[in-house]
Amino acid sequence: MALIVQKYGGTSVGTTDRIKAVATRVKRFVARGDQVVVVVSAMSGETNRLMALAGDMGKSPSARELDVLLSTGEQVTIALLAMALHAESIEACSYTGSQVRILTDDTHGKARIKSIDDKAMRHDLQQGRVVVVAGFQGSDDDNNITTLGRGGSDTTAVALAAALKADECQIYTDVDGVYTTDPRVVESARRLGRITFEEMLEMASLGSKVLQIRAVEFAGKYQVPLRVLSSFEEGEGTLISVEGDQPVEAPLVSGIAFNRDEARVVVRGVPDTPGVAYKVIGPVSDANIEVDVIVQNVAADGSTDFAFTVHRNELDKAQAITESVAKDLNAREVSVDANICKVSLVGVGMRSHAGIASKMFQTLAEVAINIELITTSEIKISVVIEEKFMELAVRSLHAAFDLDQPV
Ligand code: ADP
Ligand code: ASP
Ligand code: MG
Repeated sequence: MALIVQKYGGTSVGTTDRIKAVATRVKRFVARGDQVVVVVSAMSGETNRLMALAGDMGKSPSARELDVLLSTGEQVTIALLAMALHAESIEACSYTGSQVRILTDDTHGKARIKSIDDKAMRHDLQQGRVVVVAGFQGSDDDNNITTLGRGGSDTTAVALAAALKADECQIYTDVDGVYTTDPRVVESARRLGRITFEEMLEMASLGSKVLQIRAVEFAGKYQVPLRVLSSFEEGEGTLISVEGDQPVEAPLVSGIAFNRDEARVVVRGVPDTPGVAYKVIGPVSDANIEVDVIVQNVAADGSTDFAFTVHRNELDKAQAITESVAKDLNAREVSVDANICKVSLVGVGMRSHAGIASKMFQTLAEVAINIELITTSEIKISVVIEEKFMELAVRSLHAAFDLDQPV
C-alpha cells in the first residue's frame, strides 16, 4: 500500500468523459490498496477564458479579484471528479486550496506556499476516501484567495506530496513523459526514462513548460519522488531523480529548451566607466522587472554597448526606464527587439566535457543562424537568436547532439 499524489492537467480533465477516465484510473490505484490524493487543473482553456473575461472589465483588473475569478476553474473540476468517483462507488471528498488550508504569501497571481495543513486530508485517507484538491490555489493569512502562477497545479501536487510524505507524486499530462525537447516541435524527440532534478529545473526555467519551475524546486528541496506520465496511455513515464541515481554515463546533453517570451533591450554608446552596469540594470530591477541574459561589450572608441533581455510583457516598461537612464548617461541610443528567442542545451554531462559550446555554435553556423547573445552555466548553454530561426535551431541541435538516437 502506498500513498500517492496524482495531478491531472487541463487536457486530461478537458471534457466530462476525460474526467470519468481519470476516475477510472484513480479507481485502479484504490483497488490496489493505495491511498490517493488527486490534484486537478481547470478544464483545458478555462483559465484563459476566465482571464479574457477579466480583460473585458478593464485594462488592469484587481489582482485580488482576478485570483477569486481564476480559482473557480479548478473548483469546477474537483466537484466533477468527486462526482465521477462517487459514480464508480468510490468515496471521495473535494477541497479547494483554502479548504485544505494551503497557506500562501499574499502575492496574488504568483503566490508562494508557506504551509499546508494535512489534518483533513489524513483523516479522509484513513477513512478510505480519495481526497480531491483544487490545484493552483491557496489563501493568505487574511483568508484572501491566491493563485500560484500559470501551471501552478504542478506545484500544488508536489507540495501536497511533500506535506504528506507521499511515496510518489505522479504528474499525468498529454505527453507520456519528459522529452529531449518539446515533441510538438521536434517529431523525433525522445522520451527520457530519467532526468535529474537539476536538469529538469534548468529545462523548466529555460522554457519547457511540461512542469512548473516551482514544482521542480519543491520536489528537489523535499526529495519528493516525481514522475511525469501520460493520462491517455500506460507507461513508465519519466522519473525525476537525484543525480547519483542516474546511469554512470550521462549523455553530454539531455535536452533542449526554448523560450519565445523574451525581448532584448540594447543601450549603445555608453561611457565605459565604473558603475555603468549598475546604473543601467539597477533601475530596471528596482521596477521589479526580471532581467535574464546580460551582455556588455566594449567598442573601439572606448564606449560600451549594453544588452539585456526581459520578459516580453515587460518590454515597454523596461524600454521607458532604460531610455530615461540612457539620457542621463549620455548614451547614443536605445533599441529594442521582441522578435528573439532563447534556445538552450541542458545536461549534467556538460560538467565533465569541454567542446559542447563550440559544437553548438558550429551547428548554428552551418545553418546560417546568427547568435546574438550567449550565456552559460555549469549545466547549460543558452543562445539568443532571431525568433524565426527557432525551430530550425532546435531541430539542428537535436540532430547534432544525437538526441534522437536511443541511448
Ligand atoms: P498540463 O495541462 O497537463 O499541465 P502542459 O501543457 O502544462 O500540460 O504541459 C505539457 C506540454 O508540455 C506538452 O504537451 C508539450 O507540448 C510541452 N513540452 C514542452 N517541452 C517538453 C518536453 N521537453 N517534454 C515533454 N513535453 C514538453
Ligand atoms: N489552470 C491553471 C493554468 O492554466 C493552472 C494549471 O493548469 O496548472 O495555468
Ligand atoms: Mg502544466
